[in-house]
Amino acid sequence: MRKPIIAGNWKLFKNALEAIELVTILKREFCDVEGVDIVVCPVFVVLRDVYECLMESNIGVGAQDLYWEDSGAFTGEVSAPLIKDAGAQYVIIGHSERRQFFGETNQTVNKKIKAALKHNLTPIICVGEVLAEREAGQTMDVLKKQCEESLAGLTNEEMVKCVIAYEPVWAIGTGKTATPAQAEEAHKYIRGLLVKQFSEDVGQSVRIQYGGSVKPDNIKELMAQPDVDGALVGGASLKSDSFSAIVKGAIPA
Ligand code: PEP
Repeated sequence: MRKPIIAGNWKLFKNALEAIELVTILKREFCDVEGVDIVVCPVFVVLRDVYECLMESNIGVGAQDLYWEDSGAFTGEVSAPLIKDAGAQYVIIGHSERRQFFGETNQTVNKKIKAALKHNLTPIICVGEVLAEREAGQTMDVLKKQCEESLAGLTNEEMVKCVIAYEPVWAIGTGKTATPAQAEEAHKYIRGLLVKQFSEDVGQSVRIQYGGSVKPDNIKELMAQPDVDGALVGGASLKSDSFSAIVKGAIPA
């Protein structure tokens, strides 16, 4: 039985004051919530503030990216040890916005996953097709290439520590959600890839989140799919009422 995981990707929103205000409410909202892992991913500069506020809570903290070297002459980058030191337990890697605007490739994603694992951070690895690829019937080929290249060289032990987020790019921030059937088809396919690339056990153990316009009113039907193990939530994670409803909607019956 895979434990659901809901993560909020705050993107480039929320300064320290706003972040503390939000997590103070979430901490209260979720104090009795069990059966689901909850994570918030603020911008780097407020990671420690958020972590300190959430220390005695059941909410984990994640970063939105990292650089694969531990230290060195890499102006502007932030490494796994620094993220860890600021309190993060998770890190989003390969988000489509990083791929689209910042030149992220499957090869850089691969290096970042290895750096995260080396420092005991749980990578949330994003994959997903753009609209033109879906319309051309290439979704599964894109997912195959992304998984094979991004996860290359990981051991089974490392792979089970990872979370995958299937995020069809056409559904991110657009209000267009994949239908539960479209999400399930992709998740099942990714799980099959993990079985082939690693083992049956690994395929059955790795949690696969869906991401793309998840809202309180679609979380339940997405979570009802057998291979959907949670959600990576952008816009709706920025408000306590919507994020709270999504987390509560993901609690197993
Ligand atoms: C995301 O940022 O990963 C995301 C899925 O955004 P949204 O929920 O706003 O579509």
